[in-house]
Amino acid sequence: MRYHPVDAITNPVLRNPNPCAQCGEPLIAARWSEHLSERCIRHVWECDACGYQFETTVYLSADKAAQRRRKAA
Ligand SMILES: [Zn+2]
Repeated sequence: MRYHPVDAITNPVLRNPNPCAQCGEPLIAARWSEHLSERCIRHVWECDACGYQFETTVYLSADKAAQRRRKAA
């Protein structure tokens, strides 16, 4: 498990606030993220207002995975 705080700033999915499913408060950034594989990233969200937690999973296309691999090199 690796923590990627930069993802919260650079990932276009994370830049768009998600509303909390329980109270509607906007969620700005995932609490933490982990790479399950080269093309699969799991984000864990927690609402500051009510404490509700949930996970989202992002599957990158082969092109996006290749771009991330090039950036990391
Ligand atoms: Zn909430």
